[in-house]
Amino acid sequence: MTRTPTGGLTDRYGRTAIDLRVSLTDKCNLRCTYCMPAEGLAWLPRQELLTDDEVVRLVSVAVERLGVRQIRFTGGEPLLRPGLVNIVGSVARLSPKPQISLTTNGIGLARTADALAAAGLDRVNVSLDTLDPVRFKKLAHRDRLHDSLDGLEAAARAGLTPVKINTVLMRGTNSDEAPKLLDFAIRKGYQLRFIEQMPLDAQHGWSRDNMVTAEEILSSLREHFDLDQDPAPRGAAPAETWLVDGGPAKVGVIGSVTRPFCGDCDRTRLTADGQVRACLFSKTETDLRKIMREGGADDDIVAAWQRTMAAKLPGHDINDETFLQPPRPMSAIGG
Ligand code: SAM
Ligand code: SF4
Repeated sequence: MTRTPTGGLTDRYGRTAIDLRVSLTDKCNLRCTYCMPAEGLAWLPRQELLTDDEVVRLVSVAVERLGVRQIRFTGGEPLLRPGLVNIVGSVARLSPKPQISLTTNGIGLARTADALAAAGLDRVNVSLDTLDPVRFKKLAHRDRLHDSLDGLEAAARAGLTPVKINTVLMRGTNSDEAPKLLDFAIRKGYQLRFIEQMPLDAQHGWSRDNMVTAEEILSSLREHFDLDQDPAPRGAAPAETWLVDGGPAKVGVIGSVTRPFCGDCDRTRLTADGQVRACLFSKTETDLRKIMREGGADDDIVAAWQRTMAAKLPGHDINDETFLQPPRPMSAIGG
């Protein structure tokens, strides 16, 4: 049954959120240094996590009542969520069917890519910061490069395309690897996007000097490739894209810090414990889990979600002197 839409998730600056990022767990099997400390974090207690049915209920409200059209499952590592295939299947049966994607480190994807595709997953982004196993181990504190690469291959075979790769460069660690990663992505038919490192790590170790900027990434790529700005309209996509050697291959650069795109943002976010956030950098959240567990109706969820998004700030303030990191790290918000 298609329920009547109640108006969308529009804010005071005229932006409408149609893209929902759902974190399915705060746990992870890697420890990427820009995200988590080597020893891991105190994970959310099980009873605080949304159940699979609660996740599906909130996503249904977003799609059927609030005009959301794209769902991205993320985490932590979403492949660690036992009910992932069933959740994807339930969301794929919503009307209208949203576009469904997954952001993952790829570990375990080789086992589940076919089942996820059959359940209705449309595509994946796999995070990969290096092709060197020694660097991978240093960067992610686990020796799992092969699992990530196998996951990428399996995603392409399962038709979860276009397969995208997300790469974060860090000075002195993998900042020289941009051309090699682009060459790899082009050969394999993956779409590579570099993301500027943001101050969202649990250890608060980010520094502007260590961040490899969009400008630096582009100049290191230009030493090996001709790049022309992609004439296709960017829309709300965070990545600026470039045609490589005349195309059709492309590369994306997400300059979250030095080239913010907040004015075109179309996202809303749900954490694994049922908190809705207007932005990665929000300092406040709205507790939809509480509303559900106290017997609230879908109308109550709609109203709370709309209030949260209406109050969305015009942009992040990373470039202000007064910037303070949000209390939750990226892995707990959902990247
Ligand atoms: N574990 C999954 C993964 O790594 O793809 C999903 C969650 S992860 C938090 C989502 C994305 O956020 C990844 O592409 C990761 O590289 C990126 N990320 C994590 N911490 C970041 C940071 N401090 N700055 C920029 N990107 C970050
Ligand atoms: Fe895990 Fe993803 Fe964070 Fe890496 S970026 S530690 S894979 S959640």
